[in-house]
Amino acid sequence: MTQTILHAAERSLLGDIMTSQTLWPSLLVLCDDCNGRFVGSDDEQRAAAFIQQSLEQYGLSNTRIEEFPLHGWRRGPANLIVNGHELACIGLPGTPPCDLSAPVIFLGDGEPADFEKAGEAPKGKIALVRGKGSHRLEKFARAVKAGCVGFIFSSPEPGALPPTGSLEFGGNPAPIPGVGIAYETLCRLERTAARSQMTAHLQVQAELFDATGHNVIADLIPPGVESPDWLMMCAHYDGHDIAQGAVDNASGTVAVLEAARALKGAYDSLAAQGATPALGIRFALWSGEEVGMLGSSHYAATHAGELERIKLVFNCDIVGNPGTLFLGVNGYDTDRLVAYFRELAGDHLFDIQTGNSMVIPYSDHFSFYLKGVPALMASTGGGKSPGPHTHGDTLDKVDVRAMRAATAFAARALLRLACDPAPLPARHATAEEVQDVLRKAGYEDLLKAQGRWKF
Ligand SMILES: [Zn+2]
Repeated sequence: MTQTILHAAERSLLGDIMTSQTLWPSLLVLCDDCNGRFVGSDDEQRAAAFIQQSLEQYGLSNTRIEEFPLHGWRRGPANLIVNGHELACIGLPGTPPCDLSAPVIFLGDGEPADFEKAGEAPKGKIALVRGKGSHRLEKFARAVKAGCVGFIFSSPEPGALPPTGSLEFGGNPAPIPGVGIAYETLCRLERTAARSQMTAHLQVQAELFDATGHNVIADLIPPGVESPDWLMMCAHYDGHDIAQGAVDNASGTVAVLEAARALKGAYDSLAAQGATPALGIRFALWSGEEVGMLGSSHYAATHAGELERIKLVFNCDIVGNPGTLFLGVNGYDTDRLVAYFRELAGDHLFDIQTGNSMVIPYSDHFSFYLKGVPALMASTGGGKSPGPHTHGDTLDKVDVRAMRAATAFAARALLRLACDPAPLPARHATAEEVQDVLRKAGYEDLLKAQGRWKF
């Protein structure tokens, strides 16, 4: 393929994305018509149908919905009374229903040192932790291990918004109940803890049921190639039930839809010039990410035999913020790939940060990295969003201009890699190499505790 032909295809790809009339309408359907798209809900199913229909309209091949089973969870009211004062709270997905009274123990950020310092004291009490530092799931696992009977988790940011977020991986019901409280409520309880003992009455209602999740998959196949190797571009389209999941992650979902549409156009225009990309591109929109990456891990498990053919997973999770685009690359021998992204960003006069030293175990690329597939997470920072898992994650927070820029960057990177795969790692990581990286990053115990250490 000559550079002239590739550059012409790239220019029309970028122009298409920057002037697209489908980006905003897609966001409207996902956010205003399908709400939070919580896995197992009618909203989620409606969103899956819309995504499949869009991909079909854009001319992608083999558009399909792949179902997976899960433990469904439906929110009911939650009530927290501490020392006689009623405080606003919401149940955390996976929480069992409860009606209990117990002393509350404030454990700071809920880091290992906080639990160590507390010794036996948390046993039989309700753990109260700040939403700062390590992931909610890690703090929760520590509280369970310390023998706590309940878990109260705060938002890290002011704004009077209680956070949601699942308590367990694999969609299993959590062993102890948990609720989210606003930052301001935590500040009040911290002051109370400094003055007196705290006792809470915690009531949570929730419904647990058998549910089905839906992944949506579609292929872009180079003409005349029967069984290509793949690049995979993906995002989770499910969100939480309390908001629209607009930044997290209607933004990533629509980035994938837009890239799919524009890349189909680029493949067609290359074909018209007699040029054929070396790789196909598989587009995947996952569900169940917010309750433990269920959709992507189901796919990785049920398509294990095909993973060797996936050369890179490009996961868009939160690309609707206006700040720097961050690409976190996980894999073996990825230096060339990182250098390639930097060079391409320089070409765009585009502000990105990229690195391959940090393991990010909390989005869908990780389901593939666990199997040795080179995988990256793209996300943007900054902006007005008060936090991805709050009532404030609504469509008005999405920065459309930044979304277009991130989508254009991703689509161009994938087109170039499809035409010239040289910067891609020569092979997948072995199970031993993956384990080694995870051990060094300090994730072994945590992944084992979450049932995700499957080697
Ligand atoms: Zn997300």
